[in-house]
Amino acid sequence: MTKNLSKNTILLIEDEENICSFISTALKNQNYKITCASSGKEGLHLTASLCPDIILLDLGLPDMDGIEVIRKLRSWTPVPVIVISARTNEHEKARALDLGADDYITKPFSTVELLARIRTSLRHSSQMQDMTSTEPKPYHCKNLTIHFENHVVTLDGKIIHLTQIEYKLLTLLAKNSGRVLTYTYLMEKIWGPYTDNNNQILRVNMANIRRKIEKNPAAPEYVFTEIGIGYRMEEGD
Ligand code: CA
Repeated sequence: MTKNLSKNTILLIEDEENICSFISTALKNQNYKITCASSGKEGLHLTASLCPDIILLDLGLPDMDGIEVIRKLRSWTPVPVIVISARTNEHEKARALDLGADDYITKPFSTVELLARIRTSLRHSSQMQDMTSTEPKPYHCKNLTIHFENHVVTLDGKIIHLTQIEYKLLTLLAKNSGRVLTYTYLMEKIWGPYTDNNNQILRVNMANIRRKIEKNPAAPEYVFTEIGIGYRMEEGD
């Protein structure tokens, strides 16, 4: 069962007061309940006492690294975590995602962008909890449809022929649409944990997928590159 969005509790772990108040105002206007923590320690404590539906986490905290907060959270809770980061360091963002963060957003960001990321994460977490649906719903976005039950991909109603690897890669992105999946995550999911960390094979497959589904692979409509981090597929309807 999906929870009423207006009742969702959000915990914001962020030490900069002006960012806290900007985010709090934006989220309260959308009827979210929001609590702020100004340190990692307080954030971990409030996570246990409040059981928030989602956590927004700044990586640069006064008492500990946000990366450490994710590591500690993931030892006991699957609560969705969206990293809020001023850092442009792609390695750090990828590391946060690989440690179990659900998504990230880079400062400065718009309210619209933040709200979209929150909705996506909440939807994914409620889908994870709702395991009663047997058949996965097809992915549909613009002219692209993926029928998971019979492994058929169509574009403008015509069947697209994909190799097995291309299909696995595309469905993994589609099932996580709206979220960024890191190179490391994709490599491990498709080629296994013992593959080397050379992403060449991934890039080649991605280029082939784009050639087949994108009108203009240089200006994609469906699968976007997050430079230095991974790929994000456009959210389906
Ligand atoms: Ca900070």
